[in-house]
Amino acid sequence: MALSIEDIFRSCKFPLSSEGRRFIMNAAELAEEAHRDQKRKSGERYFEHSLSVAKILAEIGMESRTIAAGLLHDVPEDTTITLETIRKRFGNEVAQLVDGVTKLGKIRLHGSREEYYLENLRKMFLAMAEDIRVVIIKLADRLHNMRTLEYLPPEKQERIARETMEIYAPIANRLGIGEIKGELEDLSFKYLDPKNYAKTLEIVKDYMRESDSYLDRCVAAIRANIQKEGIRIAHIEGRSKRLYRLYQKLCRHDMDIKRVYDLVAVRIILPAVADCYGAFGAVHKYYRPMVGRIKDYISLPKPNNYQSLHTTVFGPEGRIIEIQIRTQKMHDEAELGIAAHWIYTEKERGLSWSKLFFRKNNSVIVPPKELSWVKQLQEWQKEIGQDNSKFLEGIKIDFFKNHIFAFTPNGDIIELPEEATPIDFAYSIHSEVGNKTVGAKIDGRIVPLDYHIRNGEVVEILTDKDRKRPNADWIRFVKTSIAKSHIQKQTKKDTGFSKIKQ
Ligand code: MN
Repeated sequence: MALSIEDIFRSCKFPLSSEGRRFIMNAAELAEEAHRDQKRKSGERYFEHSLSVAKILAEIGMESRTIAAGLLHDVPEDTTITLETIRKRFGNEVAQLVDGVTKLGKIRLHGSREEYYLENLRKMFLAMAEDIRVVIIKLADRLHNMRTLEYLPPEKQERIARETMEIYAPIANRLGIGEIKGELEDLSFKYLDPKNYAKTLEIVKDYMRESDSYLDRCVAAIRANIQKEGIRIAHIEGRSKRLYRLYQKLCRHDMDIKRVYDLVAVRIILPAVADCYGAFGAVHKYYRPMVGRIKDYISLPKPNNYQSLHTTVFGPEGRIIEIQIRTQKMHDEAELGIAAHWIYTEKERGLSWSKLFFRKNNSVIVPPKELSWVKQLQEWQKEIGQDNSKFLEGIKIDFFKNHIFAFTPNGDIIELPEEATPIDFAYSIHSEVGNKTVGAKIDGRIVPLDYHIRNGEVVEILTDKDRKRPNADWIRFVKTSIAKSHIQKQTKKDTGFSKIKQ
């Protein structure tokens, strides 16, 4: 089905200005002209791909310049129209976004799979550190390529699906764009493990045949009960779990679908945080909760900043369902992740998104540590140079591991991998703080330096200004690459005395 520019405007999460519309329209015109004689493997005109990428960007709430760059993303690479022309007509910002996406695409294919994987990852990180929107366009590009993967030969399908599962989906997840991550995983799953994909689909269909109408009855009953308590609902919907995630759960539960409690979930959106707790109480008044499955991610957000109230209850007709309760803003941030920040910047002028994002106790706005993990990775990359094995090891810990947030006594947020220690915390603040650390307090109480910091804890680092260098033994328990590389560097300067036991 052919798309039009109107489809893009209709997909926009938030309305565009007339200026923004005109900007996008001009970009579309140039892209259509540039790709005029090209076709996709599917037989569609190439421009259809440009429009699809732009539509995905519009859906996740990106602004007009990013959407324009999405339309133009394959122009310099595949047509006679140069980046210079794009710069002249659309300005430096769009040109840089397009150039960033083009560079990401230029990855040499020779060498081992491991080398290819590493180079790919490395490029993604470098791009991310420069302008995160480049990576978001690349994700939209990949999503549309995955949706049309059936037209490629099988060996290419395999490679692209694997790369999507190993690189693109985790990056979408890390950026908090749950919608894209979920679809990328499901599409990759289909090509990487067709047998189990079909099997999971079969199980769901069987179960859903009766579940579908149940979900409708369930939503109606819950809505009525919450309204009875005088709480106004902005939106309520039922949804079923994504296939790939469901398959993973099924594997842990002997493929028994009755043991997957969050197969169907009801999501309730409310106007304000207070309403969320009101609705939470109302739900528990009518439906008995399951022990150990009540989660308050509003007071204590998940490491990726996800906020919501979750509970699993014996719902209408006695069946087990999961209920998720949140505000519209929390919902947008959960679905669109980093992309949602632009939306809320536009909406709440004068505050940068990162300031909006980090609230402590719902009152104090914590100053931004904008994407500190990207900056840390960048810094640390400079230090390790081209050492691939170190890079991979670091990525696995710093990027793909679950993260926690800890606070400085001033309320600044420091993001760390799980099991990080006060030493990691100290080096995340500054290398000199790390080098001079002599002790640490958590929530006011002294802890050993190999203590594992937990989400939400306040960490105070005690330093001695006369201390020259870190303790070489710290290397045994620190978790972050940044701490490791500083400790190694500092203790190498020693003249052999660093290994003295205390
Ligand atoms: Mn493309």
